[in-house]
Amino acid sequence: RLKVEHLTRAFGGSPVVEDVSLEVAAGQVACLLGPSGCGKSTTLRMIAGVEQPDSGRIWFDGQPVSDGGLFLPPEARSVGLMFQDFALFPHLTVAQNVAFGLRGGREEKDRRVAELLERVNLAGYGRKHPHQLSGGEQQRVALARALAPRPKVMLMDEPFSGLDNRLRDGIRDTTLEILKEEGAAVLLVTHEPDEALRMADEILLMRAGRIVQRGSPYNVYNAPVDRAAAAFFSDIN
Ligand code: ATP
Ligand code: MG
Repeated sequence: RLKVEHLTRAFGGSPVVEDVSLEVAAGQVACLLGPSGCGKSTTLRMIAGVEQPDSGRIWFDGQPVSDGGLFLPPEARSVGLMFQDFALFPHLTVAQNVAFGLRGGREEKDRRVAELLERVNLAGYGRKHPHQLSGGEQQRVALARALAPRPKVMLMDEPFSGLDNRLRDGIRDTTLEILKEEGAAVLLVTHEPDEALRMADEILLMRAGRIVQRGSPYNVYNAPVDRAAAAFFSDIN
């Protein structure tokens, strides 16, 4: 479970994230949706622990990870990260990539890697290197790697935008299925309304650093909070 209260961050005097509060339960997917530059990635980076908030508080499963003087680095948070460029380690095999964040004995690690590669439909790919895989396959390796240590919180920043249009919907669906099976609290950043409508349990509509509307995809789509929100959704084909 992820909880964020009153998160705020400015760069060079201009506020980029202002008073953002949100909660995501285990097994739920919340989508932070909004136009380019509205502060989505900055919000995600603060939750990940790679950017320090000016103020506000963050809890993972009730434990504070960022709170005034306290600021845990990413490796001390139970967090899985997935970004637009999948950032796989090119010199490591697929299996080594997936095992990267795992602790414990060899056998246990091998079992978890095999389980995940099976789940993302890449059983038998363990010995290949990332450059031998298609974009969609690399995306699935990145997903397996992020989920391997069973993070409490999974953060995804435009994880599908580098992918071929024709593949994207299928990959979104399988990704969602795997996320649901693994049961982390997921916060997914996107600027594409159709992606949020397809994947979210809750949509958090963001504009100029603030969350301006939140609700189910059905409610946010059918009852936009203002004309700008309506216009944002009307771009969907
Ligand atoms: P996009 O959809 O284009 O990825 P975003 O909603 O993720 O946009 P952010 O990356 O959070 O937006 O950036 C929000 C604003 O903060 C932008 O105006 C950006 O230029 C600014 N910004 C982000 N990081 C920094 C930084 N390290 N230093 C200065 N300004 C920054
Ligand atoms: Mg961004």
